[in-house]
Amino acid sequence: MPVDLVIYNGKININDAFITAGLAIDEGRIVKVAKKTNMPSASEEIDINEHFILPGLIDVHTHLRDQKQSYKEDFSTGTAAAAAGGITLCLDMPNNEPVTMDAESLKERMRAAAGRALVNVAFYSAFPRESAEISHVVDEGAVAFKLFLTKQIGGVEIDSDDALEKAFHQVRQCDVPVAVHAEDRASLESAMKGLKQTKRNDIDAYLKAHSPDVEEKAVNRILKLVEKTKSHTHFCHISSKLGLDAVLDGKKSGLPISCEVTAHHLMLSSVDLKRCGTIALSDPPLRSKQDIEALWEALSQGSIDIIASDHAPHLFEEKKAESIWHVKPGFPNLETIVPLILAQINKGRLTIADLVRLMAENPAKIFHLNERGHLAKGYHADVIIVDMHKEYKINASKFYSKAKYSPFDGWRVKGKPIKTFVNGRLVMDDSEIIAKPGTGQIVGWAR
Ligand SMILES: [Zn+2]
Repeated sequence: MPVDLVIYNGKININDAFITAGLAIDEGRIVKVAKKTNMPSASEEIDINEHFILPGLIDVHTHLRDQKQSYKEDFSTGTAAAAAGGITLCLDMPNNEPVTMDAESLKERMRAAAGRALVNVAFYSAFPRESAEISHVVDEGAVAFKLFLTKQIGGVEIDSDDALEKAFHQVRQCDVPVAVHAEDRASLESAMKGLKQTKRNDIDAYLKAHSPDVEEKAVNRILKLVEKTKSHTHFCHISSKLGLDAVLDGKKSGLPISCEVTAHHLMLSSVDLKRCGTIALSDPPLRSKQDIEALWEALSQGSIDIIASDHAPHLFEEKKAESIWHVKPGFPNLETIVPLILAQINKGRLTIADLVRLMAENPAKIFHLNERGHLAKGYHADVIIVDMHKEYKINASKFYSKAKYSPFDGWRVKGKPIKTFVNGRLVMDDSEIIAKPGTGQIVGWAR
């Protein structure tokens, strides 16, 4: 019997060297990694023309919206954006309407995604009202919990160290990570109050409120909880040198922590924020040149575990609110993150192996996404083809995302994902989505 598909004549990393080889795929799994001469016969064969064959990338920080926020994004547009951008698995955040925060709301969200996703989706949950419910949420398939420290989302009182400690203990029992948005609510709110009283309504005021020590304070508070509970904790979008140094100190003392940075915090500064205006507003906000240098330095030393997009689509009008304090933070990133990183690889700042480590291997390991993140026999056939020579201009008006704006609009980049295979099926071919919604599957937590 021939296998479903053979892709051949690509560059594959085997034992730390890229060699000309390919993959045989059958029933959604990789069945062989080999040179063409050693491949089984196949129903379909695709010549990859010496481009790179990489494991499908995993974005651990996406807000796919849908449900009552379908006007911002839905599972089909969000996952189309992912496929176009070379992402084969999105981890979806829980700050939805309704909030994903217990077994029932998680099931409801999975139902909304089923049959509509083009790439695979896994789900975060916020903490449920009762800590005892945590194990039920995990049994239902949540791969991690998300803790927002800036405002109350989910059931555990975020200002109570005791309540958080109890929740962290429960999560540790279930062996799933807690991902933390680390900005301290009390400091943030008191700074904001003062600024609002003096009628400040400008980007500098926003930066002042979301200052680096607000990030540092939250990181240090959580590190104390990790010390007590030994619960694996993942710090989302670390953005400042102060916050980063606190995370690195925690790592040095052997705590079970990991961290991510976003492409926008690596490539844009507060100067860009002022140039682009509120469409580039994010939480945490874009930082100084020194902060960016610190992130790159940590990246080059291997101290950053993951690069994630924090894809956070909003209506364009929501980005243009009269008051800076009402502007919705975040912007769409699923279609820009990989090309932006590939451009950095072409400039020699990162390597292809770094990209695979930061966006496939480490995400799979840290979030227990079994049989994903590598090109190996028996693994799910989530695969992308990357053309490192292709030059193009980012055009936000052509995004699959409903949010058709970006601080990167008009940037010239070199390097592009040109094919995306999900579960062995070709979903994106040369920027076109060619698969049916439902090609993506729901990925649950695997024991
Ligand atoms: Zn986010």
